[in-house]
Amino acid sequence: MRLVFLGPPGVGKGTYASSISRIYGIPHISTGDIFREEIKKETELGKKVKSYVEKGELVPDEIVIEVVRKVLLSEKCKKGFILDGYPRTLKQAEALDQITKIDLALNFVAPDEVIIERVSGRRVCSKCGAIYHIKYMPPKVPGKCDKCGGPLIQREDDKPEVVKHRLEVYRKQFKPIIDFYRVRGILIDIDASDQAPQVIPRIIEALKAHGFPPP
Ligand code: AMP
Repeated sequence: MRLVFLGPPGVGKGTYASSISRIYGIPHISTGDIFREEIKKETELGKKVKSYVEKGELVPDEIVIEVVRKVLLSEKCKKGFILDGYPRTLKQAEALDQITKIDLALNFVAPDEVIIERVSGRRVCSKCGAIYHIKYMPPKVPGKCDKCGGPLIQREDDKPEVVKHRLEVYRKQFKPIIDFYRVRGILIDIDASDQAPQVIPRIIEALKAHGFPPP
């Protein structure tokens, strides 16, 4: 089963991808994770992409496409994969079509207000990095980390105005990609306006309905 996961920042794509990867026994391929790992290991590829990733700019298509080609054609993706964070441009979507056949593209949908509430409620421990949510996963003592007692802060890019802007950029950038899969008849919209425990069964139902029951 070869899947592409699409959706705005903060919709929970990474969480859904990890669960589906575990349930179906196929790898979760995140181009962002690959780049961060290569940067950490200071490889040739890491050096090439570092400045783009640090500035939050898109890595040039030629580089990303080669990385994705290599991993998708490798042994570990023989039974399938979940691609997360790719494609981000129409050129990447077209290149993917040449590399392998995609069975389904899952488009996670939630109203902007829901995403803004979710992301802007997020708090991070400035000492140990633990993540909380003021409503859905509050710390025992407000503003203090349960694990290490460190002060909880809100990341700059989790602030409502910034999230709103990122959503606008996303909608503009991804419209052609979503249309690309929709015209091919392989796009499935998944309602992601609830919490992960509600969304994951929805994904499994949709996959089942399209001929991919869990093993
Ligand atoms: P992410 O974790 O998916 O937000 O990716 C982190 C960073 O990696 C992005 O801000 C880009 O700099 C780079 N990146 C990841 N995937 C792609 C892609 N498909 N095309 C271009 N750049 C990418």
